[in-house]
Amino acid sequence: MTREPDRYAVTGYPVKHSFSPFIHGMFAKQTKQRMTYRLLEIAPEQLADQVTNFFADGGKGMNVTIPHKQAVFPLCKYRTPRAEIAGAVNTLAIQPDDELLGDNTDGAGLVVDLLTNLRLKLRESRILLLGAGGAARGVLGPLLEQAPALLHVVNRDKTKANALLGEFHRLGELLAGGFDDVQSEPYDLIINATAASLQGEVPPITGAAVGRQTTCYDMAYSKEDTAFVKWANEQGTGHAEVGWGMLVEQAAEAFLLWRGVRPDTTPVLAAVRSPTPVLQEAPQNAPK
Ligand code: NDP
Repeated sequence: MTREPDRYAVTGYPVKHSFSPFIHGMFAKQTKQRMTYRLLEIAPEQLADQVTNFFADGGKGMNVTIPHKQAVFPLCKYRTPRAEIAGAVNTLAIQPDDELLGDNTDGAGLVVDLLTNLRLKLRESRILLLGAGGAARGVLGPLLEQAPALLHVVNRDKTKANALLGEFHRLGELLAGGFDDVQSEPYDLIINATAASLQGEVPPITGAAVGRQTTCYDMAYSKEDTAFVKWANEQGTGHAEVGWGMLVEQAAEAFLLWRGVRPDTTPVLAAVRSPTPVLQEAPQNAPK
């Protein structure tokens, strides 16, 4: 009798636009893993019950996206150090004792994209991080591990940026403030971790923060240039990028945790960036 393929899913609310089934479908095909990966939309009030049911029913792993990353944290008996530091979980894996391990691969995914795909040097660099929500929290630890000369985190609501400073300052050179505290000397890297691009808006920071040597990175991803990327180009940025690389690399880190093999992300990144609608290819390995 042949064994059923191992089952994985991504949960969020809503989740139907997620690229994760496509990405993990490509990873599974490339690495010849017998697995399925589907969308699992769960309303916040049903989260604990449905996650528990998924794993009780034999599920092996789950990705977690907006708005559940903090809510699944207490469901995990075990957590990786990077999930503990982030205070949020984006990957769940069932353990041999049937308990859940929670990991956070967002920061590692961003850092791999910056160092490997974009070939940036982060050590001794000046980095500006816009936003103080879940995404900013997830990447602060891994960015500080790269020993930048400065990591300046600014947010519309200054108190949230200051709270992050309180939590993370022991890990490296961190400054916090509001958008009006952004320095007029160009940074080496500006990362937009706000949700402004989703509303077609740009955080109100001075254009003097951008120079020819500045890379501007928008965590939001879209086939067209985001509002932040358009703004960065108008300011004369050396390079502007949207967050496809972070999305694919954080998925590869999750896949490694689950399957013990890190897929080659290059063809997957090319596929998600492609202007043609790639999502239709997903079902070959995805939804049940
Ligand atoms: P949260 O809701 O946790 O945080 C939202 C943040 O955006 C807050 O800092 C908020 O500021 C700020 N914000 C919202 N609207 C505006 C605006 N109009 N102008 C300025 N600031 C604004 O969201 P997340 O942190 O989870 O996600 C942030 C972004 O990162 C999203 O675009 C998301 O798609 C992207 N992301 C991408 C990933 C990838 O793999 N590429 C992974 C994770 C996230 P305030 O506190 O003042 O309200």
